[in-house]
Amino acid sequence: MDIEKILQEIQEEIKPFMSQGKVADYIPALAKVDPDQFAMSVTLFDGTTHSIGCSDTKFSIQSISKVFTFTKSLNIYSKELYKRVGKEPSGNPFNSLVQLEYERGIPRNPFINAGAIVITDTLLSHYKNVNDTFEKVMDFIKAVAGDRAITHDQEVCDSEYAHGYRNLALANLMKSFGNLDNDVEDVVKTYFKHCSVTMSTKELSRAMLFLANHGTDPISNHRFITDNQAKRVNAMMLTCGHYDASGEFAFHVGLPGKSGVGGGIVAVVPKQMSIAVFSPRLNSWGNSLAGTQALELFSQKSGLSVF
Ligand code: GLU
Repeated sequence: MDIEKILQEIQEEIKPFMSQGKVADYIPALAKVDPDQFAMSVTLFDGTTHSIGCSDTKFSIQSISKVFTFTKSLNIYSKELYKRVGKEPSGNPFNSLVQLEYERGIPRNPFINAGAIVITDTLLSHYKNVNDTFEKVMDFIKAVAGDRAITHDQEVCDSEYAHGYRNLALANLMKSFGNLDNDVEDVVKTYFKHCSVTMSTKELSRAMLFLANHGTDPISNHRFITDNQAKRVNAMMLTCGHYDASGEFAFHVGLPGKSGVGGGIVAVVPKQMSIAVFSPRLNSWGNSLAGTQALELFSQKSGLSVF
């Protein structure tokens, strides 16, 4: 398979989609991003990365961070975790309050906002305070990415906090049902902090490689999680990684994947490679419009999918 050729074709074919969609503006600092950017990187098990577009440009990974926090929490709590968060697609927008009310404060899955906030709460209980928890999450991201220089964007974090009414509402609702152990403000602050981590597509595709290889980084041979845990994280990405468009993504792309409102999407081809795309304009479900299209083209042209 000629990955370089496939990527060159995608770069051309993606052009009509680049002007469609809308940059996330409910976090004001994210609205400032140049909407016309596009990047895609594919990392193979020998460490080779093929890229097109602005693949060194760092962007806000937002909900892609939920893959790292869920992995970390699953590794600590194992199946005990599912007492507090489910494993079913939500069929609802990422920040919906309605389902949470009638399901008595137990979020459907770890990738909708409420679920990710519970996951952050579990990490906060384990590591005790906001700074240590964030540092451990960063250590994990740096380790899987093989890059110690990854940081976060405090301006994006502060901007989300200043406008974080809905996430605070979700956290308060869960607290009222007894499904948050720590202080609401601390949990939400930690959550916004890990959402504001910035990475490029090159870094993100490299960071997902351990999930394409049953939990072991194929380059360093370091095992981060068990085979079983990697299977769970990938299954969760396939069924819940794109909110209420998870079915659409599985149907058109057919790979485990996770999106973020910063315009990034990561995807995993089990036993072969990991992929990251970035394009800030989003579709109506809050997923990168051109990014989703690029992944669909990639799976069509390469014939790669889990099905
Ligand atoms: N920090 C964002 C929020 O909570 C993440 C959403 C996303 O990336 O989908 O609204």
